[in-house]
Amino acid sequence: MTDQQLVIEALKSVNDPELEKSLVELGMVHDVNVEGGGASFTLALTTIACPLKERIVDDARQAVLALDGVEDVQIELREMTREEKERIWPKQQQQQKEGAALHLNHIERVLAVMSGKGGVGKSSVAAMMAVALRRQGKRVGVLDADITGPSIPKMFGLHGPPPAGPVGILPAETKTGIRVMSINLLLPSEDEAVIWRGPLIGGAIKQFWGDVVWGDLDVLVVDLPPGTSDASLTVMQSLPLNGVLLVTSPQDLAGMVVRKAAKMAQHLNVNVVGLVENMSYLICPKCDERIEVFGPSQAMRTANQLGLPVLAQIPLDPDLATRCDAGKVEQHESDIFDALAAKVTERLPATKSVPIFV
Ligand code: ADP
Repeated sequence: MTDQQLVIEALKSVNDPELEKSLVELGMVHDVNVEGGGASFTLALTTIACPLKERIVDDARQAVLALDGVEDVQIELREMTREEKERIWPKQQQQQKEGAALHLNHIERVLAVMSGKGGVGKSSVAAMMAVALRRQGKRVGVLDADITGPSIPKMFGLHGPPPAGPVGILPAETKTGIRVMSINLLLPSEDEAVIWRGPLIGGAIKQFWGDVVWGDLDVLVVDLPPGTSDASLTVMQSLPLNGVLLVTSPQDLAGMVVRKAAKMAQHLNVNVVGLVENMSYLICPKCDERIEVFGPSQAMRTANQLGLPVLAQIPLDPDLATRCDAGKVEQHESDIFDALAAKVTERLPATKSVPIFV
């Protein structure tokens, strides 16, 4: 057997985790070359955005390194041509079924971000949590479960449609590598309204969990819709959450409704990691005075009533609002969010709440 053939034989033992067939059988291996102790080849992937890319490359490298005399492996990646894809896809697509991507996803921790009412900055906090965790080197995803008011793609400057994979939908990827799925990426126009009843919304959320190829993630941040609606209930009952972060603002009303949200989580045996008070104060840019725009902070009182810690008080910050509006939330620098992400990670237990449906 020639050295090239040995490499091909070794790669026959490596499966594409999504298609469950060997890389060789799927026609992914090209341009195999062996010189001295170095082997090189090209892998043609179904999509270059494949979240399982690292896993495939790693497995292929290990298989070839295990050959006698091979010390170095160079792998080039390219996307399959349309003809190459068509050769393997039609059969695969017929096999698509509910929850098809579940076995491909390894998600260590799931954190839901919840608020009692809209407009307190829940999505901004969810987005900045993802950004801060990514800056810490974590593999992060954001599942936008706010189906009727999705704002995550806009904050990250993402536009649909997301790439399709042979088994499931692939998440879109932000500039810093955060994986995002939102109904807004799937709608024909971003301004389209989603006028759906509860069960349909619940169905979409379950699909975002089970039919999206998230791949390997350290943390998946779930941006819940505001309040204690059907959709929040679906997330809490059907996703294995490690914790919920509550976002509130200093207004009395926000305090009252966030208590309802906390009670809902507690009734459903979902661990609440703590409370974040957003829009807590404003630092005057001229004199550095701390101004409590919405009145004195309610955070301590609310947190005490719920037996929860206050994990952060976030000021009103025009830079955050402008960057979110411009789709550049990843450029917002904030020590407060970095510290919050670290605290939340510490408090996110390994145990998950047990999903009822999935
Ligand atoms: P929610 O998800 O609770 O409805 P959003 O995150 O969409 O709220 O925020 C509502 C608006 O408030 C957005 O325009 C956002 O940019 C702005 N915002 C949120 N938090 C802050 C903050 N700390 N400083 C300035 N603007 C903020």
